[in-house]
Amino acid sequence: MTIRIYGMHVDIMVMGMEHSVRLLKLETVTPDTRRLVLEKPPGYHYETGAAAEIAIDRPEWREECRPFNFTSLEEDDELEFIVKIYPAHEGVTRQLAELKPDAKLLLTEPFGTIRYRGEGYFIAGGTGITPFIAIFRRLSRDGNIGGNTLLYSVRTEDDIILRAELDRMLGENVIYNLSHEPNRKYKSGLIDPRYLRHHAPDTSRHFYVCGPEDMVRDIRDMLQYLGVAPDSIVVEE
Ligand SMILES: Cc1cc2nc3c(=O)[nH]c(=O)nc-3n(C[C@H](O)[C@H](O)[C@H](O)COP(=O)(O)OP(=O)(O)OC[C@H]3O[C@@H](n4cnc5c(N)ncnc54)[C@H](O)[C@@H]3O)c2cc1C
Repeated sequence: MTIRIYGMHVDIMVMGMEHSVRLLKLETVTPDTRRLVLEKPPGYHYETGAAAEIAIDRPEWREECRPFNFTSLEEDDELEFIVKIYPAHEGVTRQLAELKPDAKLLLTEPFGTIRYRGEGYFIAGGTGITPFIAIFRRLSRDGNIGGNTLLYSVRTEDDIILRAELDRMLGENVIYNLSHEPNRKYKSGLIDPRYLRHHAPDTSRHFYVCGPEDMVRDIRDMLQYLGVAPDSIVVEE
């Protein structure tokens, strides 16, 4: 089976079975993201922060699996994913955006990506917020959101995913950054060490980082430069 991660083709052996599931809902979240609600196979278990691969169950698309993080929680009756659509080329997400309820999808067994290890700073870029949405929902439902802080960077204000819910869960502890839109209400531009020193000053805490590959690499380098221990930096595995 071939998956394509950020433009690279990777051949993988998918462990375990694929489940055939129905699409229940497809809704717009931001201009280029959609919320997919899928039926949950009986007995399907996954951890908070996990991902699974999805393929469209049509002969020409069945082999094209793509990984997405669950934003739903294990006890929910349905599975939820938030997916960025790339309309400019003939990939899976462009097809996903065209599906109608009742369409058939294939879902692999889940695999772990980001695991919560304790309070800290969460630094997300774009759809890199998805595993953090699951973690914040878990903490929020359990009454454990504590002093966790989210630094969330998106291109423009319209690209902020689930803003109302993030504000409700995190209150004052969410800071938005717009990388491509000058806007007086927000810091604009790329995250730099000064920004991190100001908004994430306690280098002894956990730092969770998720987003485009180059952003994760740059932030990890900056955090180490600022004195964060490498094993306090949690990234997707
Ligand atoms: C563990 C994991 C979890 C993930 N979770 C999520 C998630 O929850 N939500 C989410 O939205 N994404 C997530 N992703 C990313 C997601 O898997 C990819 O965005 C998806 O595979 C894109 O599929 P595609 O077939 O549409 O595009 P692909 O064909 O796989 O290509 C996607 C890449 O191609 C680039 N591209 C765009 N246009 C073109 C073009 N014309 N020609 C060539 N390249 C182009 C894009 O920049 C993009 O990086 C996750 C990735 C990983 C590894």
